[in-house]
Formats: sequence, structure tokens, C-alpha cells
Amino acid sequence: MFSVMLYLSVLFVAGVFWIARQFVQQTRQGQLTVLFRIRKDLEDLLRQRSDLVKQKDLMSRKADQLFTLYDMTKEIVRKSNEQEAFEVFRTALKANVRFQDCRLVHAEGDRRKQMMSPTEYLIFPIRGHHHVLGYIGIKGLEDDEKDKFVILAQQFALALQRVKLHQEVEQSAITDSLTGAHTRRYLMERLEEEIARSKARQMALSLLMVDVDYFKSFNDKYGHLVGDQILRSISLLIQENTREIDYIGRYGGEEFCVVLPDTDSEGGLFVAERIRKSIEESDIHAYDTRLKVTVSIGIASIPKDTDNALELIDKADWALYRSKKRGRNCITSFGAYSKEPQQP
Ligand code: GH3
Ligand code: MG
Ligand code: MG
Repeated sequence: MFSVMLYLSVLFVAGVFWIARQFVQQTRQGQLTVLFRIRKDLEDLLRQRSDLVKQKDLMSRKADQLFTLYDMTKEIVRKSNEQEAFEVFRTALKANVRFQDCRLVHAEGDRRKQMMSPTEYLIFPIRGHHHVLGYIGIKGLEDDEKDKFVILAQQFALALQRVKLHQEVEQSAITDSLTGAHTRRYLMERLEEEIARSKARQMALSLLMVDVDYFKSFNDKYGHLVGDQILRSISLLIQENTREIDYIGRYGGEEFCVVLPDTDSEGGLFVAERIRKSIEESDIHAYDTRLKVTVSIGIASIPKDTDNALELIDKADWALYRSKKRGRNCITSFGAYSKEPQQP
């Protein structure tokens, strides 16, 4: 009996021990699993942290580059000349981006744009308010550097817009919007300069005053729009009969002033006659009307008639007045010489 009890007790103790062992083993296993999971999570977090640190480094490097780019772009926008702005842009590009070739093509130079093959060149259009101002073509640009190129190119586009706007404003200040001739103010500035230059080089200069004959009657008969068209055509005809170096200005309503550098009074007379004849022989188209228009011209020259701008204008004006008195469609030189229109 005792031995049975002993046996059972031993069995019981062994059972308890086994259960306890199992329990301990399972708990340990569970703890190990948890520990493994924690360790794995920790490793993941450490990996993520290191990725984030790398990304942060990359981003701060990119931010640094962008700030540098931004500083450079400020330099581009500061330039008031198109070519200078492009040179600063190209220098900034070379310092920041790998590429083989970069070109600026003007909007008018479409043929050159076509010569840049689109498979080789990335073509970036530079848009103004109303039209394309030009194109930047870049060859050999890596995909991952496009962002940097676009930042710089956008700044260059801004600079180009500014330069063009400045040129337009300057142009409109010196150009008469109706006739395309220079404004009176600009002409006076140029005249003073040209007279100073002529004196310094001891060269002659002639000034023509050209006035449309009976212009008021054209306005009265056909209306002001036709009158305006006549003025445009006269301006064009004067331009066609003068040289690149001559200046044509709209001096008053229907009065043009032509400055002929390096031209004595005889040369001036020759140019004046060419202008007069060409206008007389032209059919002026104004809308559905064809008109015959003539002009009277007065000439004064430096050094023959005077040596200063105001007197030169005064004397050419006086000569013009003489032409009107003589019956119009003719030329009068302030000096003794004058020339009647040739009779057919
Ligand atoms: P003359 O042969 O003596 O030069 O006579 P004219 O009729 O040409 O000269 P007048 O000075 O009597 O008239 C000039 C006219 O030019 C008067 C003015 O209304 C007109 N005019 C001035 N500016 C413009 C313009 O921009 N457009 C138009 N359509 N007419 C203008
Ligand atoms: Mg007139
Ligand atoms: Mg007049």
C-alpha cells in the first residue's frame, strides 16, 4: 500500500514537474517568438531610419544645389542683354548639369531649330505673352538632371521675356506707331549726334523736309483712315529710297524729316529727287482706293548752310515753304540751287 502511495506520489510529482516544464518551455518559446519579432521590428526600424537619413542627406544636397541654382538664376535675370543672359545661363548649366551641347535659337530662326534633331536635342520653347520668343536646345541631358535644367531654363525664359519687353518699350519710344518712322524726339537726338560726328570728321550732312501736298483734301475727300494709309505708304517709299544709315522721322502730321549723314547738298538733292519721283510715280493703295500723291521737299546742309541742328531744320523748313510757293511737287535747296520736277 505504501509502495503504491509512493509510486503515485512520484508519478504525481513527475506529472507536475512535466507540466511545469512544459509550461516553462512554452512560455520561453513564446517569449523567444516575441523577442524575435521585436528584434525584427527593431532591425526594420533601424533600416528605415538609415534610409530616411540617406533620403534626408540627398534632399539637403538637392536643396543646397537648388539654392545655388537660385543664386545663379538671379544673375541671369539681372542681365539686360539677351546674349549675356544666355552666357550666364550656359555657365550655370555647365556648373550643375552634364550635357553635350546647348543652343539658343531665335523664334525667327526656325530653320536652325529644324536642324536640331528632336531625337538628339531636348527643345525647350521660351514663351512670351503672345508668342514664342525662342527655343533652347540641349543635347545629351541625363534624365535625372532634367529638373535642374528646367529650373535654369525657366529663369532664362524670364530674363528673355524681360529683355524683349525692354526692347519693345524702347522701340515704341523711338518709333511712330502709325508710319513706322522714328519719333520727332528720337530724330532730334540722332540729328545732334550726327552733326557732332560730321563736324569731327569734317563731313557734310543734309536734311530733307518732306511734306505731302494737299494732304488735307485727301482727308476731307476720302476720310482719315485713307489719310493714315497715305502716310504709311509715303513713309515706306521714303525708306525704300534712302540708305540704312539715314534716319527718317515723322516731324509733324504729314511732314517727314530725313537725315542724310555724309551727304552734301548736291547728294541731298539727288536723294530728294529720287524720293519725289518715286512718290509721284507710285499708285498709293488705300483700302479700295488708288491715289496719286505728291510731296514737296526742302533741303539744307552742313556745313554749307549752317553748323547747328536748329538752324538746319529752320532752313530746310524755309526751303520746303519755297517749294510750296513754287507750286508743290518740287524740291528747293536752301542754297541757290533748286530743281523743278521734270516734265514728262
Ligand atoms: P500743303 O500742300 O500746303 O502741305 O497742304 P496740306 O493740306 O497738306 O497741309 P495742311 O497743313 O493744310 O494740312 C495737313 C493736314 O494733315 C491737316 C491734318 O488734319 C492732317 N493730319 C495731321 N496728322 C494726321 C494723321 O495722323 N492722320 C491723318 N489722316 N491726317 C493727319
Ligand atoms: Mg502738306
Ligand atoms: Mg504740313
